[in-house]
Amino acid sequence: MSSAGLLTLDVEDWHHANFHQLEGREGEFRGLADEKRYPIERNIDLWIETLASYGAKSTCFVLGEFAKNHPAAVLALQRQGHEIACHGMTHDLIYRMTQPQFREYLKAAIGALGELTGRPPIGFRAPSWSVGARTPWFCDELERAGIRYDSSEFPIKTPLYGVADGSLKPYRSGKLIRIPVTVLPFAGARIPFSSGCFFRLAPKVLIRVGLKRALAAGLPPMVVLHPRELDPDHPRLPIRGWESWVHYARLDTTLPKLHMVLKMMNWDSISNRLGQIEHSLGNF
Ligand SMILES: [Zn+2]
Repeated sequence: MSSAGLLTLDVEDWHHANFHQLEGREGEFRGLADEKRYPIERNIDLWIETLASYGAKSTCFVLGEFAKNHPAAVLALQRQGHEIACHGMTHDLIYRMTQPQFREYLKAAIGALGELTGRPPIGFRAPSWSVGARTPWFCDELERAGIRYDSSEFPIKTPLYGVADGSLKPYRSGKLIRIPVTVLPFAGARIPFSSGCFFRLAPKVLIRVGLKRALAAGLPPMVVLHPRELDPDHPRLPIRGWESWVHYARLDTTLPKLHMVLKMMNWDSISNRLGQIEHSLGNF
């Protein structure tokens, strides 16, 4: 029986995103990011302060590129007892990589984080949930690199990512433990509510019910947020239509909802709860 939720933050800059409209324009956005000089560290401070006021800990999946640009912010998270896990080196899609490319990419990211924090990360989350049938070597590569758990599975198929029949419960793949994002099973369907745009779009009641259901089923409820989502006024990417809508909708609801979930239950990092999750695998 799980007694705490798993609070996770994908630590990346405001311009890190993978939309169809952005393909092939990465260089342009790096330039844009330099030009706008948005102080993303403030949002990391806000995360630290907010969680500290509830005694909550989190897992921070840090992008290697972010760690290089903002080492002080990553070290501040670590000092406050938040787990520093790995979100890859750059925000590139893993299903576009070959197995050898991914091996190098992972090695670079683990190296960058380990060098900064003095501790190699044990957890991984793919940029934009970009793993699945197209990356059959993914779990083997994580295991080979010393990663102990993965949280890259989004168990609903969306236009941008996800696995339609993904597991709703943590499970073992080789030595690796895979912990999927929490969704709400309802009338034969799966409703997303706990991550990024879905957390922003979901009414509070759906978030409350979804988290309570997971807890009642003995599953660790997991919430996924990004630093940029804590500030509704962060700079905008030049995207239009529905991609712009999902990326920027209801940003002003993130902080109030974060306070709501922090009041609902205890929240911890994945590494602090990994033994408990591993022990419960047969009981889910
Ligand atoms: Zn990301």
